[in-house]
Amino acid sequence: YAKNRGRARYEVFDPSMHIHALRQLHLENDLRRAIERDELVVYYQPIISLTTGSLQGVEALVRWRHPQQGMVSPAEFIPIAEETGLIVALDQWVLNAACEQMRLWQQEYPYLEPITVSVNLSGRQFSQPDLIKKIDSILNQTGLEGKYLKLEITETVLIENPNSAAEMLQQLIERKIQVCLDDFGTGYSSLGYLHRFPLDILKIDRSFVSNIEQNRSNSSIIRTIITLARELGIRVIAEGVETQEQRLFLQSLGCHYGQGYWFSPPIDSTKLSNLMTNKLHTW
Ligand code: C2E
Ligand code: MG
Ligand code: MG
Ligand code: MG
Repeated sequence: YAKNRGRARYEVFDPSMHIHALRQLHLENDLRRAIERDELVVYYQPIISLTTGSLQGVEALVRWRHPQQGMVSPAEFIPIAEETGLIVALDQWVLNAACEQMRLWQQEYPYLEPITVSVNLSGRQFSQPDLIKKIDSILNQTGLEGKYLKLEITETVLIENPNSAAEMLQQLIERKIQVCLDDFGTGYSSLGYLHRFPLDILKIDRSFVSNIEQNRSNSSIIRTIITLARELGIRVIAEGVETQEQRLFLQSLGCHYGQGYWFSPPIDSTKLSNLMTNKLHTW
């Protein structure tokens, strides 16, 4: 994407670009009000243990029910939220909603195996000096224990600000909050820095999973990531698992967890409740 940015400059007068820019502007204004107007909703996507086929956790993924435009994809509004700084309020809202929901599930279904909830944090949010204070207050208010929460960050966060990131990770460890490195392999793809950070989980980006069967270099990248992670004591989640073949292949490589349409798309909390309590459901 970054590679195409230079070229995009020459396309300013393309009318479709103009329409795109206008839409961005409208969305930006609307997004400011979306939180107050209760237009955001959190969906949850199951994360499955590849060895047992059981539900290990869920990832919280924000959705925007725009009153005129219908569902707007986070791929479209997260970048806008990041540019405008609205991301800080948005991420905090999602974090709170997800912790609240997880606590509710624990109270409703105390007999189920405990699962965790993973929440995405933008780089901007992760470098907020009062992030830990906010997290503490959310855990306090919702009553959720830190060990049931995972935070997903990207490589950029660690590389751009290694010292403050390490400090933050330490404070999270003290609270038993786990940290996942999201979209792994798409950024710096430098495996060398990994051992310097106390991470719990790597999420292999779905671009490596999508044509795993045909593309031998993808499968050897995945193999390498899993081997390295194993040596560092880090568990691995494969994103974007869409077929039974992919699942079996990842399982044979020793990948711990899978997430993707093969298991379930992101679904609302009611649908997830049904799924959790359906004893006959297995993956
Ligand atoms: P992500 O964190 O890497 O989340 C995974 C994305 O892959 C989700 O897209 C999910 O719906 C999609 N996905 C899951 N399984 C499959 C599959 O089998 N095939 C395909 N093709 N896609 C699959 P979504 O929900 O549109 O979110 C896009 C991105 O937006 C997320 O990527 C994350 O970076 C960001 N995002 C979502 N919610 C939040 C949030 O609350 N805060 C922040 N900061 N970012 C968020
Ligand atoms: Mg994520
Ligand atoms: Mg991801
Ligand atoms: Mg991704």
